[in-house]
Amino acid sequence: MMETLVSVCPMADSMNNRAEKSTSIISNVPVKDSTADPTNLDLTGGLGGDANVSQALPKRLGLLETLDNSHIQQRVSVPSTQWGVISPLIGENLNLRYQQIPVRDPEEGEVIVRIAWTGICRSDVTFSKGPYSGFPKCNHIAGHEGIGHVVKSADPSRIGRPVGIRYIGYTCGFCTYCRSNLPEQCAEQMNAPKHYNGTFQQFMTVPWSCLIPLPMWVFDSDGRISPAIYTTAMCSGAAALKAIRTASVAVGDVVVINGIAGGIGHMAGQIAKHVFGAKVVGVDLVWKINSLIPDQSQSFYDRIVAAPDCKGDQMPPKFFQTLEEMCSDLRGSSADTRLADVVINCASTDQGFAGFENIARDGGVIVYCGVPRGELEIPISLHNLIERQLTIRGTLMGGPEATYEVMEYIRAGRIKPITTEITLNEVPKGMQDLLGCRGIGKLVVKVNGQLPWGEEF
Ligand SMILES: [Zn+2]
Ligand SMILES: [Zn+2]
Repeated sequence: MMETLVSVCPMADSMNNRAEKSTSIISNVPVKDSTADPTNLDLTGGLGGDANVSQALPKRLGLLETLDNSHIQQRVSVPSTQWGVISPLIGENLNLRYQQIPVRDPEEGEVIVRIAWTGICRSDVTFSKGPYSGFPKCNHIAGHEGIGHVVKSADPSRIGRPVGIRYIGYTCGFCTYCRSNLPEQCAEQMNAPKHYNGTFQQFMTVPWSCLIPLPMWVFDSDGRISPAIYTTAMCSGAAALKAIRTASVAVGDVVVINGIAGGIGHMAGQIAKHVFGAKVVGVDLVWKINSLIPDQSQSFYDRIVAAPDCKGDQMPPKFFQTLEEMCSDLRGSSADTRLADVVINCASTDQGFAGFENIARDGGVIVYCGVPRGELEIPISLHNLIERQLTIRGTLMGGPEATYEVMEYIRAGRIKPITTEITLNEVPKGMQDLLGCRGIGKLVVKVNGQLPWGEEF
């Protein structure tokens, strides 16, 4: 059985091969004993006090309406210590501790965000192991799907602002890649956890320029939609939308999604069905399929089939035949092809990547947005690629605009991400479960929860 068929945040492994400007700084950070006084910990994510955030520009918050925050300012008190999930020393295995840690004072250009909820992404597991070049080696805090409020800032007008934390915080906006809508490739980018620690802590100190503004309605939905659900738009949902857009999915298209039960996969299925009007054939591990709740899971697929139990690189004939029949069925009897218009891989798997081109129709599109472990290859003959006029694309996580768009779909009830909510002290177990490919949909962590506006906190 393919044992690693899970959705994975599409930036984790891809970041490891890049030239990292912060490598030399991080390599000089001394390893500290996490059992020591927590107030002695360096929680800057390996950059210490050298992080140059003085050029941080609060340029992205034009979306925000004017905020009457005078009452908020009077109620804000930030503690000196907090609870967090920290990796004291990065190694081959997860080394996560839930413990008291200091709240780091903001430097110039930084603010403190009270994290309300955060998602857990498969790449949080990747970042918490290693160490990888340019990533923190010690005192690392993962998490990059957070929502919360600014509670400390040298600029009082920022206090009380609802904000989101995505993997990529800052990009230059000027380079070739930024101007080509490829911010993931920007060499000047700042992100969590490379340049500052992430959201698995109650109070996150972060450059103001690395936040995205959130609409007020995220935290003010009258209980109709929990704010927690919007964390799914920060990374997984944006990645899912980008994959679908990249494939140019159109109304009536038949889309095969591998890894359909995972964080990205199930959102890709919902968006494809309920926003783009496509028909979806899902593929995932048999035990995941068996544990799906029918009413819930049918929101993200029309047909579903278990991934083949194979070790080879060829798609078993019976599996191919089943997929073909499902695609044909969804197309209707008058269709002149039995294959899919689009194949999207949202899974991280050691096997099963090969052969996807056989499921796509001539002229079809195959998109890979799940990053596999290791150095996997997708062998395809040039003869096949050219004569069948196939398109093969890789995509990363999508920008803030994709996050906003997915949030609007959630608000409108067009998609309903499937989440399991845990508490901050349960993050180590949740991460271990993700490592073991256990779980359906998205894991969401209630860190502080809703801001009690009427109370001291
Ligand atoms: Zn992610
Ligand atoms: Zn750039």
